Amino acid sequence: MREVIIIGSGPAGYTAAIYASRALLKPLMIASSVEPGGELMKTTDVDNYPGFPNGLLGPDLMAAFQAQAERFGTEILFDDVIEVDLTGDIKIVKTGNGETHQAKAVIISTGAAYRELGLPKEKELSGHGVSWCATCDGFFFRDKTIAVVGGGDSAIEEATFLTKFASKVYMIHRRDSFRASKIMQEKAFNNPKIEVIWNSAISELKGEGSLNGVVLENTETGAKTDLAIDGLFIAIGSDPRVGLIENQLELSEDRFIKVEGRTSKTSLPGVFAAGDVIDPTYRQAITAAGSGCVAALDAEHYLSN
Ligand code: NAP
Repeated sequence: MREVIIIGSGPAGYTAAIYASRALLKPLMIASSVEPGGELMKTTDVDNYPGFPNGLLGPDLMAAFQAQAERFGTEILFDDVIEVDLTGDIKIVKTGNGETHQAKAVIISTGAAYRELGLPKEKELSGHGVSWCATCDGFFFRDKTIAVVGGGDSAIEEATFLTKFASKVYMIHRRDSFRASKIMQEKAFNNPKIEVIWNSAISELKGEGSLNGVVLENTETGAKTDLAIDGLFIAIGSDPRVGLIENQLELSEDRFIKVEGRTSKTSLPGVFAAGDVIDPTYRQAITAAGSGCVAALDAEHYLSN
């Protein structure tokens, strides 16, 4: 039996792994088979992670996290957790390849998943003009006209990155101001390829087989207009990934895992949570990393008692 299993491999999971392995707890990290490394694997420049004055690429930062965790003895399994039983003193974790693992403590750092618009055809056109990942799919839109929907940091980051390929990038936002940080807003406003379409929601995706446009609805007047585009990148935030544990751990009203005060303690003893899955507010790589550290220290304290 393990001392501790860490589920999820973003900045929170890896920081928990670094601390837990340095505490000689020999953690097992289950890192996902398709998306190890979490959201930063899909970003480009990370300019706000302290310690890197010239910035670095998201995947490079995650590779460094992984190397540091492995250096101290973290064992990483690139598989998906499909079922857990966290209710007893011995926690049971089953993975996609049929293995069952047991531990005295578990740290949940499963992050958050991209939100969908919820429109008809959204799934059908996914990968055929509709995307959630500019770094993955931007290359396919060389000299094309595309749009990004959303008004947060992610939307601006995606739009700015996409200007490397596209000839024109519309940003479609449902209000008349962005929620993104000022420095990101400036990036968008100063980029001649980006045009913002304010007060607009997408009411329809158009195209058979691949996207060729959207219908926009003005959120103030209700007026509808067509916009011809070759690609649409959806960057409207994310929701905590709680599917695995929603029937076992207490969640907040907006479905984040509830933790006790500033700790990582969930509603079950021996189960700790960290990163975006507990954080409706800050959701930065550095805050997730800090929260992973807290979870490892809490788990270490729990195990020593
Ligand atoms: P976010 O801050 O939650 O922004 C989501 C945006 O999508 C908002 O502008 C929201 O509109 C819009 N939206 C939500 N649901 C929508 C819907 N159904 N239809 C149309 N628009 C919708 O999410 P995020 O941009 O992914 O950022 C998440 C966190 O990561 C933030 O804390 C952000 O600071 C951080 N982040 C930081 C960086 C960086 O520092 N470089 C980069 C990326 C992300 P409203 O504004 O009207 O609510």
